[in-house]
Amino acid sequence: MVDGHSGLTTCSHGSQTTVVHVTAPSFASLTTLRVGGTPAAAYECTSAEQLADTVARLDRAGTPLLVVGGGSNLLVADGELDLAAVLVRNEGITLDDDLRLRIQAGTEWDAVVAYAVEHGLGGIEALSGIPGSAGATPVQNVGAYGSEIADVLTRVRLWNRETGVDEWVPAESLDLAYRYSNLKFTRRAVVLEIELQLQDTDLSIPLRHLGGERVPLAKARESVLETRRAKGMVLDAADYDTWSAGSFFTNPVVPSAVADEIEAEVGEERMPRFPAGDGQEKLSAAWLIERAGCHRGFPGEDAPARLSTKHTLALTNRGQARAADIADLARRVQDQVRGAFGVELHPEPVWVGL
Ligand SMILES: Cc1cc2nc3c(=O)[nH]c(=O)nc-3n(C[C@H](O)[C@H](O)[C@H](O)COP(=O)(O)OP(=O)(O)OC[C@H]3O[C@@H](n4cnc5c(N)ncnc54)[C@H](O)[C@@H]3O)c2cc1C
Repeated sequence: MVDGHSGLTTCSHGSQTTVVHVTAPSFASLTTLRVGGTPAAAYECTSAEQLADTVARLDRAGTPLLVVGGGSNLLVADGELDLAAVLVRNEGITLDDDLRLRIQAGTEWDAVVAYAVEHGLGGIEALSGIPGSAGATPVQNVGAYGSEIADVLTRVRLWNRETGVDEWVPAESLDLAYRYSNLKFTRRAVVLEIELQLQDTDLSIPLRHLGGERVPLAKARESVLETRRAKGMVLDAADYDTWSAGSFFTNPVVPSAVADEIEAEVGEERMPRFPAGDGQEKLSAAWLIERAGCHRGFPGEDAPARLSTKHTLALTNRGQARAADIADLARRVQDQVRGAFGVELHPEPVWVGL
């Protein structure tokens, strides 16, 4: 069977479906930035076992591979790439009597949030509208509006690529931190399934964008989606401001003395700065980018890659950009912030081949 969307051919062996690639889809069609070249091969995995088997087989053969969920946190180089794309497409949600959700890695994350809200289960409503797959949520400990997956994640089923073991591991073993886990930027394991502990509740968690207010779950979800849409943070094919990887840089953590210097230099009251422990503070990357002279839409109308017109933290493809254009813009923004404040901005998405 040829899947017209992905360009993959699948053939069935009994109950298992094995994937054979014909023409590998380009990363421009696999990522939300809509840039990037073509992998040497692509494998669509529709069960956890198939995902583990495919990765094990490629690893045994010494074939470089990239695990791809929704492609919403990936910047992949242009041209022909010497790697196989392993597409995580195993889907399904199960709920047990103790309100634990078990979710196959390829399930669309926002469908999980919608499911939870519909079933009166609280804990993830503030994570509404984040694109991508459930399996990728622990990879960078996704978060928004004062909530993160670490708050509800209990266990993760991993295919451990180093030991060749299929194992459930506790969330604590992933070193989850701000936009980080020990799975990010490594090849050590593939997430096959995740497990979340949710709560039977009518009210949401306190929502940061509503001043800490708790509201009914469905209202919370709608309010988060509305706020995200206004910032171009909900995917919309018709809106170039959403042809992005979301926030492109993490918020930098600097010594308090550096934060003091920047605040004095800019001369504005109420610079966003938050305690980060050990005499360190977290600054707002978006605020620094704007104060360094990179406005919305930067660098200007003719550029194929620009900052979003709704949010300076999103680098966007205006329809014709290549991966190199996005990478150039990222370096330009980094240079400008470094030049203005001596602060290094670190990209949040995973760069491949650049
Ligand atoms: C418009 C927009 C808004 C966004 N808003 C937010 C936000 O509010 N908060 C936030 O935290 N992020 C946000 N993001 C970033 C992104 O959506 C998340 O990081 C998301 O979890 C990525 O999921 P994905 O399936 O698309 O991962 P991909 O982009 O496919 O992969 C990202 C990385 O994870 C790895 N990976 C993917 N699946 C697996 C797996 N099963 N096992 C092991 N490794 C895997 C990949 O190899 C790659 O290294 C946003 C992105 C966009 C485009």
